[in-house]
Amino acid sequence: MALDRLFRRRRTRGGGRDVPELWLKCPACEAQIYKKDLEANLMVCPECGHHFRLGVEERVRLLLDEGTFEVTTGRVQPEDPLRFEDTEPYRERLARYREKTGRPDAIYGGTGAVEGVPTLLLAMDYAFAGGSMGSVVGEEIARGAEQAAAEGRALVIVAASGGARMQEAALSLMQMAKTTMALDRLWERRLPYVSILTDPTTGGVTASFAALADVILAEPGALIGFAGPRVIKQTIRQDLPEGFQRSEFLLQHGMLDQVVPRERLRSTLAQVLRLLHPEGAKTRGA
Ligand SMILES: [Zn+2]
Repeated sequence: MALDRLFRRRRTRGGGRDVPELWLKCPACEAQIYKKDLEANLMVCPECGHHFRLGVEERVRLLLDEGTFEVTTGRVQPEDPLRFEDTEPYRERLARYREKTGRPDAIYGGTGAVEGVPTLLLAMDYAFAGGSMGSVVGEEIARGAEQAAAEGRALVIVAASGGARMQEAALSLMQMAKTTMALDRLWERRLPYVSILTDPTTGGVTASFAALADVILAEPGALIGFAGPRVIKQTIRQDLPEGFQRSEFLLQHGMLDQVVPRERLRSTLAQVLRLLHPEGAKTRGA
């Protein structure tokens, strides 16, 4: 009984924040899942298969061959040329996210190999300002595409983003054109670009590089769209179909190539890269 009281008191006092969360509730099936079990299962609910968001470092570990990864991002720092302020100054907001994630902006990745195929992998970090695309994210993607082209690597981008970063206004929107142009370098060299859409992929990210890949894969149940369902419903004044803007719906309507559960993501990606990358042709004995 005494133990029970102790736990109850800590929870009310600290709002649960200083107690490490050991159990998580699945938002889809409401099962209580032990966090370690969830992590061991690649952050996929063992009961119903709901895909929780995966951190960027875990994403790199999931997709690249062990011991091949070399980080290339993190050298570009965000600026605040507009001195933007909404509920808090943009500078302070950036500092807060930097503190939380240990990275200067919402993207992480570098060079490595996927089952031997030379690759440059970039993952958007939803934990940093909702994975929003500002000047740094755009610059890292442009540099990544240019480096991949120069070094003969495939480019793989894992999208997870609320869209353009409002605090950078037009500078943020310009990244849509910039990232699109940078992908041309890969097409010129006939190097593959694979886009992996995860929950959520929206706004200016969907409307630029995320939807321009040679092959577009998505995780199950991910929200993928341009404007959110509420905005669309208000605009067209019609009820939206069941599952609207989820991966499976988009696959049925020809917007994606395949919906791939996380446990098969690495092997599926490797298969695609082996088929499309010139180095891959060697590994499959063609
Ligand atoms: Zn579940």
